[in-house]
Amino acid sequence: MATEILHPFSRPLYVLLKPVDASCNLRCKYCYYLEKQKLYSAQDKHIMSDALLDKFTYDYIHAQTMQEVLFTWHGGEPLMRPLSFYKRAMQLQRQYADGHIIANSLQTNGTMLTDEWCEFLKQNNWLVGISIDGPQDFHDEYRRNAQGGPSWVKVMRGIKLLKKHGVQWNAMAVVNDYNADYPLEFYNFFKENGCQYLQLTPIVERIVEHADGRHLATLGDSDDAPLADFSVTPEQWGDFLIAIFDEWVRHDVGRFYVETFDCMLANWAGVDPGICMYGKECGHAGVMEYNGDVYSCDHFVFPEYKLGNIYTSTLYNMLYGEKQHRFSQLKHKSLPQQCLECDYEFACHGECPKNRFARDRYGNPGLNYLCKGYHRFLDHIAPYMDYMKQQLDRKQPPAAIMQALRDGTFKAK
Ligand code: SF4
Ligand code: SF4
Repeated sequence: MATEILHPFSRPLYVLLKPVDASCNLRCKYCYYLEKQKLYSAQDKHIMSDALLDKFTYDYIHAQTMQEVLFTWHGGEPLMRPLSFYKRAMQLQRQYADGHIIANSLQTNGTMLTDEWCEFLKQNNWLVGISIDGPQDFHDEYRRNAQGGPSWVKVMRGIKLLKKHGVQWNAMAVVNDYNADYPLEFYNFFKENGCQYLQLTPIVERIVEHADGRHLATLGDSDDAPLADFSVTPEQWGDFLIAIFDEWVRHDVGRFYVETFDCMLANWAGVDPGICMYGKECGHAGVMEYNGDVYSCDHFVFPEYKLGNIYTSTLYNMLYGEKQHRFSQLKHKSLPQQCLECDYEFACHGECPKNRFARDRYGNPGLNYLCKGYHRFLDHIAPYMDYMKQQLDRKQPPAAIMQALRDGTFKAK
């Protein structure tokens, strides 16, 4: 194959798996993946075959340049596949391990977890990410089932089962127009429920009716497509982050992990944040659909971002090839003037390109819709981050900031 290979050994090869296309037992109002089914409407069976599972497992392990290999099971809802599918996946992983250390993570809405599932997850040391948007009324506002009924009670039952079996779990919460107004209720809920690691995702979508039935806008759609009503505003997002940060920096540094704050501290310290949203480049994680099609990113599962199919190309060529390299680089190369001049570009990096549909102060396209919120937040946290970075430089714990704030030896402003 003539594909040019670029920087092949710079990081682990990582692919999210979709064992069952976009199918899900819930119908969360802002789910960006449900309508991906329309991409494959000509095919009627949308589950990963045993032959593909076998091929992917072998190819994925053997494409790695590092000893650790991470399998991430994603959806749709990956629990739409029976436990027997994942037992088979583990069997294949053991068969093809070839000295690698293999880990698995599962990203689920949690509503279908059972004792049997949790026993399996615990026995095999899987990490589970649960989608939950906070207390009951916050979560049930948009995360509903196919009949329009609420889902929070079932998610909490799933979390209870994970805790009962000692399964390691994280929360993945969407911040929307509703829960963004209650940052401390939201934050305390996760702490009170034994969550140790919280991932925050601001929801921003625009509505455009496409001929194939999709209604969420892509970057190719016009700048003036209307925002979906559930989207968080830049002001809400900034205020939300500031309120939670002020609580975290006084009480929870080193005890409770908020991914956004971890990423910011990493960027302040000049370390790769590990999360594409706040990294300089995209393309850290490809996606493989149930039929072997591989795409550049979970948020760019569109025909123009298809890298190929595992039956006709190699994971190595697709993920380290020229097309993915261009996709990765575009994140920085497409920043508008305002970002390039911004004092906080090193920490924000213009966030995710999927949200860059605003105009900058010079009228250039490509500014992140949430920019105003990010800028306020970054301006607010800068002195705290400077202090924690100095701590790291001195090989001292950043958590010392809590005591320094209490005894007045550090004052932010
Ligand atoms: S487009 Fe967004 S989600 Fe995808 S790799 Fe880039 S930053 Fe990450
Ligand atoms: S805060 Fe705004 S201007 Fe600065 S890098 Fe982020 S999106 Fe760009």
